[in-house]
Amino acid sequence: MKALVKKEKGKGFVEILECDKPIPKENEVLIKVAYTGICGTDIHILHDEFPYWPPVIMGHEFSGVVEEVGAGVTGYQKGDKVVGEPHNLACGKCHLCRNGKIQICDSKRSIGWGIDGAFAAYLCMPENLLHKVSDKISLKSAAVAEPCAIVAHQLLEKCGITPGDIVVIMGMGAIAIIAAQMARAAGAGQIVMCGCTRDMGIRLDYAKKTNCCDKFVNVEQEDIVAIINEMTGGRGADVVVEAAGATPAIVNALKVIKKAGTICAIGLTGKDTISIPWDIAMKKAITVQFNMSSSYNGWEIALRMMESGMVQVEEMAKVMKMEEWEDAFSQLEKGEAIKILLECGE
Ligand SMILES: [Zn+2]
Ligand SMILES: [Zn+2]
Repeated sequence: MKALVKKEKGKGFVEILECDKPIPKENEVLIKVAYTGICGTDIHILHDEFPYWPPVIMGHEFSGVVEEVGAGVTGYQKGDKVVGEPHNLACGKCHLCRNGKIQICDSKRSIGWGIDGAFAAYLCMPENLLHKVSDKISLKSAAVAEPCAIVAHQLLEKCGITPGDIVVIMGMGAIAIIAAQMARAAGAGQIVMCGCTRDMGIRLDYAKKTNCCDKFVNVEQEDIVAIINEMTGGRGADVVVEAAGATPAIVNALKVIKKAGTICAIGLTGKDTISIPWDIAMKKAITVQFNMSSSYNGWEIALRMMESGMVQVEEMAKVMKMEEWEDAFSQLEKGEAIKILLECGE
């Protein structure tokens, strides 16, 4: 089978190669991959800004159909539609795993960067990391379940939205839009999304179309701090979701959050250190909720919200062929698409 592989360490070194079709072990299922989403992480891996173990088939945001099951598998059978948590090889024994935090276990090697992933026709996954996808969710939407699970875990489970909250979202990428949709479903009063001029095309259109952006602030031309101060009578935003991963956005998050407010940190900067106004955070007694990846419950919440239509990702995602990966990666980097799924089947 053909697969998109990060061949070695360094910038670049990504190529479509001929790889062996994987064989499921006892507790694994073989999945015929339907769609695999390109994540910010994949772009960081291309540019050598995220840990990975090459050579490795990239891709961790997949949907697919069970093709074959290992002898020990009890909960799945051929034909089941599935998605999966990319928490492969979590040890199950350490203090993190035993506290239910398998997503940050030191032994974890996610598909797509630690072990072979889903930019391929077939993928093996252990049964215990899978979730069934109901018929109410298309395989195309299901391929976006992973970023939805991340937001459900980090924003809804860990930070929480109180009905009526003024929520500011930094960023206009897929995670930012999903966060806005989930904030709306959780009862946010006003949702302010912040981006740049390049975000004012399809990204802003989609956010408005799905009714999750009450106000857009172009941070290149407008003063977000003054706008939020005016909107809130000087109090500040109740919750800020940082989904841009850019230093100016992180600084703005600290400036617009209210005293004792919560910042939900989702974006990775890709840098060793950044400069932030520490004393502002201190004087405001801010909570910054750092998180990484997704939880079991995050997946359940995300799938239920997708089923009920509270989260709408179907039209957010554009489908391209695996052979077009370079064009797809660059469209995402330039902000010309919100989410791109690659079709890697044969
Ligand atoms: Zn991802
Ligand atoms: Zn562990």
